[in-house]
Amino acid sequence: MSDRTLPHLALSAHAHNREGLHRTDDAWLAERWADPSTRVLVLAGARLELVDGAPRWLSPDEAPDGERILLGDRDGVTRFAVLVDPEDAPEGEWVGLRGAFAHLMGHHDEAPWLFHAVGLAEWRRVTRHCPRCGGVLEPRRGGHELRCTSCGRPQFPRTDPAVIMAVVDDETGEVLLGRQASWPENRYSTLAGFLEPGESFEDAVRREVLEEVGVEVGRVDYFGNQPWPLPASVMIGFVAHATSREIHVDGSEIAHARWFSREDFGRATESGEIAVPQGVSISSSLIQDWYGAPVESSGW
Ligand SMILES: [Zn+2]
Repeated sequence: MSDRTLPHLALSAHAHNREGLHRTDDAWLAERWADPSTRVLVLAGARLELVDGAPRWLSPDEAPDGERILLGDRDGVTRFAVLVDPEDAPEGEWVGLRGAFAHLMGHHDEAPWLFHAVGLAEWRRVTRHCPRCGGVLEPRRGGHELRCTSCGRPQFPRTDPAVIMAVVDDETGEVLLGRQASWPENRYSTLAGFLEPGESFEDAVRREVLEEVGVEVGRVDYFGNQPWPLPASVMIGFVAHATSREIHVDGSEIAHARWFSREDFGRATESGEIAVPQGVSISSSLIQDWYGAPVESSGW
């Protein structure tokens, strides 16, 4: 039923070889760094530099000093990230990941590189000390592990799984969309929430929908997933089949929610009565998959 070739999920479709086995191979790393075809993305904190709207990739001899992270290779080109202190970043247009979304819409194949690099940079930015003893951390394995120099405890990049779901009524064909309390008045999207310890994805979908809008969900179908390092998530998408219809919003996270028929939805997005996600997010893919056609909305 779901069209897995929808363009936005295709952001996840161009994975590079992460070269996990080479992360500890210093000779290989040095050889790849010496190759002039190697490309380097500089990250100041977790920000990257845009030039004419596109992320700036340097050759190794152009790259500043900083901590090197091996990203991997694809199509015969090896890529690294170099982390520098934001205070040492040269003048330029430095943006967070969202600032590169417009570019990624036209360059899906670049998304996995940026998601990988920015995700690691975000992790490093917030992981300053050993969580067990407060000791000093030392990067290893091409930047994909931090080891405490005092107690030896290793830690690895964390990714926080979140479920995101289109809640549908199979009898009427309607979808339920909600507006978060912090959003502008006309903005609507799919519901989402973080997985709790010991919980399955499907149960997280049912719990979040019940908590946020008071609707009960029966069957839950997997839709697709997308890395979302903003700052550290992976969004796991589902279609949630409602078994009740009455809405009681929680009033804290979700300020308003409503059911849309395809007809209502088409009219409301065209007139600007509501705005729904456009662009690279999985919520946009979920909504388009339900609607069955591209959605023209004022977007956000
Ligand atoms: Zn420690």
